[in-house]
Amino acid sequence: MTRAYNFCAGPATLPAEVLQQAQEEMLDWRGTGMSVMEMSHRSDEFVAIAQTAEQDLRELAGISDDYAVLFMQGGASSQFATVPLNLMRGKSPADYVNTGIWSKKAIAEARRFGEVNVAASSEEQGFTTVPDQASWKTNPEAAYLHYTPNETIGGLEYDFIPDSGDVPLVADMSSSMLSRPLDISKFGLIYAGAQKNIGPSGLVVVIIRKDLLGHAQSGTPTMLDYKVIADNDSMYNTPATYSWYLAGLVFKWLKAQGGVAAMGEINKRKADKLYGYIDNSDFYANPIEPRFRSWMNVPFTLADDSLNSAFLKGAEERFLLNLKGHRTVGGMRASIYNAMPEAGVDALIDYMKAFEKERA
Ligand code: PMP
Repeated sequence: MTRAYNFCAGPATLPAEVLQQAQEEMLDWRGTGMSVMEMSHRSDEFVAIAQTAEQDLRELAGISDDYAVLFMQGGASSQFATVPLNLMRGKSPADYVNTGIWSKKAIAEARRFGEVNVAASSEEQGFTTVPDQASWKTNPEAAYLHYTPNETIGGLEYDFIPDSGDVPLVADMSSSMLSRPLDISKFGLIYAGAQKNIGPSGLVVVIIRKDLLGHAQSGTPTMLDYKVIADNDSMYNTPATYSWYLAGLVFKWLKAQGGVAAMGEINKRKADKLYGYIDNSDFYANPIEPRFRSWMNVPFTLADDSLNSAFLKGAEERFLLNLKGHRTVGGMRASIYNAMPEAGVDALIDYMKAFEKERA
């Protein structure tokens, strides 16, 4: 069996050990004679799988009992609506910071449900930086302050947690969750689509401070009411059981790696290596202000765009896959989430060196 180095931004590479375990347990989960996929979500077996996953996530991320952890569906995109439906709480406006394509999508969706104030934006800088917090025009009466800690497409990552005072801080952590230690107590709500650092798609994890439950505006669909989901242990309807199980395996794997502290060190080393190489080369470039370069998604361009397809073809021949940049920005992008081994980054750099030598 050959495993490629898959640099896809999501669905992203998963740890081989996790996939192997899932394979071993596929037909018969621990003597039950059935696959997890086939189990009733109300069975003792699945409830134990679900609770263990939540417990492991709580331990890994340091989530206290002040927070509910929800395993929802509809991806991070449905949270763009679910957040305002639940957190506007009759207040106005909701503050948003615009640092890229995912912030913009969150802003556009929130506008359908209430007044949005774009407190700061780096659009004029081509989303290559995060606006200095001192310049943000936030409202002390805002319903919440929403930001996107890691912009998956632009490769822009905050190196600080914004100070929102008494206003609940809301973060779309889809592409940075569990990539390094984080003080959860600073947040009112965190959401993360699973298909990067958590598990397969079909699942979105929501971490919400309990005092923010129970304020959904009238007309909110039952399935989008955080309180309903919390009161029913994320089983108001049939949850994405298999994705939830796999996320649980990923959490166990992360714990075995030493948790988010160890992951953060490895991720920093991986990112430093790749950016270091790009910066030392006249052939490759990354436009992001160094302080705000993402540890998870590394976009880069070649000196000559006409070489892009040759670069991608050569990469594929070496089993370095999915390096094509997002269609809106072009160039290349290497997503190097937790499950991308350091050897994968080394292999990519070796290939980039060889290509540069041949073509520059
Ligand atoms: N937010 C961010 C930061 C993302 O990276 C993505 C997916 N790439 C989304 C939201 C949308 O996620 P989903 O496809 O799960 O709706």
